[in-house]
Amino acid sequence: MRKIYLGALALLSANCTFAQKDPVAEKFAKYINVEDAHKHLSIIASDDFEGRETGQPGADKAANYLSGEFKRLGLQGANNGSYFLDIPLSAISGKVSSLSINGSALEFGKNFSAEGITADGNINVAEIVFLSEGSEADLNASNITGKVVLVIAAKPVGTESARQATVRFQKIIKNIQAKSPSLIFVASSNARFRGASERIVIKKPATNTIATVPVFVISTSTADVLLKNSGKTYAQLAEAHQVQVVKADISASYQYIVKDVKAVDVVGFLPGSDPKLKDEVLVFSAHYDHIGLNPNGPDKVNNGADDDGSGTTGILEIATAFTQAKKQGHGPRRSVLFLGNVGEEKGLLGSEYYTDHPVIPLERTIADLNIDMIGRTGYEHQGKADSSDYVYVIGSSMLSTTLHKVNEEANTKYTNLVLDYKYDDPNDPNRFYYRSDHYNFAKHGVPIIFYFDGEHQDYHKPGDEVSKINFPMLVKRAQLVFYTGWDLANRDKRPVVDVVTGNDSK
Ligand SMILES: [Zn+2]
Repeated sequence: MRKIYLGALALLSANCTFAQKDPVAEKFAKYINVEDAHKHLSIIASDDFEGRETGQPGADKAANYLSGEFKRLGLQGANNGSYFLDIPLSAISGKVSSLSINGSALEFGKNFSAEGITADGNINVAEIVFLSEGSEADLNASNITGKVVLVIAAKPVGTESARQATVRFQKIIKNIQAKSPSLIFVASSNARFRGASERIVIKKPATNTIATVPVFVISTSTADVLLKNSGKTYAQLAEAHQVQVVKADISASYQYIVKDVKAVDVVGFLPGSDPKLKDEVLVFSAHYDHIGLNPNGPDKVNNGADDDGSGTTGILEIATAFTQAKKQGHGPRRSVLFLGNVGEEKGLLGSEYYTDHPVIPLERTIADLNIDMIGRTGYEHQGKADSSDYVYVIGSSMLSTTLHKVNEEANTKYTNLVLDYKYDDPNDPNRFYYRSDHYNFAKHGVPIIFYFDGEHQDYHKPGDEVSKINFPMLVKRAQLVFYTGWDLANRDKRPVVDVVTGNDSK
C-alpha cells in the first residue's frame, strides 16, 4: 500500500488532502477494543494492587502483570532478555530525635517541623542570632557562620499571593544558608507541623557534597521561649526589626535516613522487520505506578484507574495490535519499545533513569508517544458536545513539525477526535508539558506526544475507579496513538527535529 506513494507520486500525495486509509492498519487497530481494555484495567486498578505505589508490593504486582502480558503477546525482554530494568531508588528522610530550648523539650512533628536535613548532626549552643526578616541588610548586620539563627517567616505583602510570598521566602532561606549558620529556626504564626516524611529519589553515588543547613519551623510561642533571655517577646522583637544576639541554651540531634527502594521499569521489545530501519525504535510509554493506599478514608485504595491504569492498558492494547500484525506478516519496519514506567508519581523517576540509561540509544529513538490518563472526561469538556470525543495533545510540534502532522493525519483518517491543544504550551500555568514521562525524552531532544484527558474530580483520589472509566473513549484514544505509531514505525524517514521549543530546561 505505502509503496504507491513513492517516486513521482510522492509530490502528488503531499499536495493531496484526500485521506487514504490503510486497511492493514485498520485491521490491527481492531485488536484495541473495549472488552480487552476492560479486562486489563480491572486487574491493574484492582484493590489487590493497592494503588501501585513505587516501592510497595502493589507496584511489583503491576510490574509482574505487565511483564507477563508482554511475554504472552510475544514481545522480547528489552533489557538483555529481561522485561525489567532496575531503577535504583532511595527513600530519604530527616528526623529530629531531640530538641531542647532553654530547658523545654520539644517534640518533632508536634511542636515543630524540619526540612533540609541531608546529614546527621548535633547542635549545642548558648546563644541565638535573631535575624528579623532576613533581608540583605539583616544578614550583613551580624556574622552568623556556625551560629543558630531565627528568622521570621515571610507573609504576603501588598498584592503578593501566598505562593509568591513562599517563593520570596525560599530565596531568603537560600541567602541565609549561603552564610553557613549551623541551624535555622523559622518562626511562623500559622505553621502546621509534621514529622519525618519520606522522599523517593534516584540513588546517587556517595559524594563529598556539603550538607545543607537544616531549617526547623517553630510556632511563635516556641519563638517566645527561644528569645526569653532578651526580656522581650517574639512579637516585640519582630516589631523592632532589629538583628540581635540573645542568650539561649539550645541542643538538638538530628539524623538523615536513607533506605533502598526496589523498583523496575517494564520493557517489552518488538524487533523491526526492515533491515535498514530496525535499528531505530519507536517508544510507547505509560506509567504503571500510582499514589498507593489511603489509610484514613472509607475507601482505602487510590486505584488510579485513569491515572495511569488507562495508559498502561493503552500500551498493552497497542502492543497487542503490533504483535498481531507481526504474527500475520505485517510487523512494523522499525522496532518498537513498550515502556512501563515506575516512579512517575514520585517525580518522573523511572523515565528519568531510563533516558539516562536507555536500553536502546536515544539517538536511535525516533519518538516517544506517552499516554497518561485517557479514560475519563476532564473538567473543561464535561457537559460539552465533545465530552466523549476529544483528547488533549501536548508537545507534538515542540520538537518536530512532522510528528505533529503525522498525528493530525492519523486522527483525520481514522479516529476523528477533537484534538485539544489548550495545554500544548511550555508556558501554560498548569505546566502539563513537564508533568509526565515524555518530558524526560523531550529534554534529551527526542520528539514526543503526550496524550491526556485533563484533570477531573477524582484526580489523585480514591474515586479514580474502573467503574468511572469510559471504555469506548479510552479505546478510541488508544487507537489514535496506535495509528500515529503505525505511521511512525513504517514511514521511510523518521521525524526530523526541526524546532527547539520543547527541550528547554524546566
Ligand atoms: Zn499520571
